[in-house]
Amino acid sequence: MSLRYCLSCKTICDDFNALTNNDSYQCPTCKKPLIYFGREQASISIESILAEYDALHPYNPVKDFQGVAKDYSNPQTNIALIECEEILKHDPNNQEALRHLSKHFWAQGLIQKALDYMNKLNQINSVISDDIVYYVSLLLIQKEYQSITDLVIKYQELITPFLFHHYLAVSYLGLNQFQDALTQFYQAYHSCDDEDRKKKIKKMIRYLSTILDQPS
Ligand SMILES: [Zn+2]
Repeated sequence: MSLRYCLSCKTICDDFNALTNNDSYQCPTCKKPLIYFGREQASISIESILAEYDALHPYNPVKDFQGVAKDYSNPQTNIALIECEEILKHDPNNQEALRHLSKHFWAQGLIQKALDYMNKLNQINSVISDDIVYYVSLLLIQKEYQSITDLVIKYQELITPFLFHHYLAVSYLGLNQFQDALTQFYQAYHSCDDEDRKKKIKKMIRYLSTILDQPS
């Protein structure tokens, strides 16, 4: 069995429900040609797949996160930290204080504490567009894949279609929902304009096709 994808219906078809017409496969619903990227030979673990895909770093986060660390580890940090804690005593939902404390703990390497403050921002529905990549990175480190799914669906309008599908794909993969992951990787592929990233996505699609093609 081989899995192919219909771009217009956004569904995966296998050999049994795909129609053949002069050696090309067609979607049984809309009759458009199906996409197929082939498959990989080797057997692979999900951990190694995720590592190879470099899910933490969709673009250039080494640079991004150096920026974060630089801003929050300067000599002013301790003063700002005390100020933030003071502000939160009187105004527990103060967004800037919550955001600043999260990044302070991130710079200290205290990921769960950093995440707690982002979760608080989320509880009061105050996550902004600039927060998303950072927030998802924390969730990825903590392997909270279901929370990533919930988050990107909740804040879909704040992120690009590529990031939306990319993060859903990775979180479904982490949740062992391979068919859903495959669908999202196809969507990510077609909403991606970075050639290097497209190559990585294509490889993921091939890996997932291998996993899903194995007889159960
Ligand atoms: Zn179709």
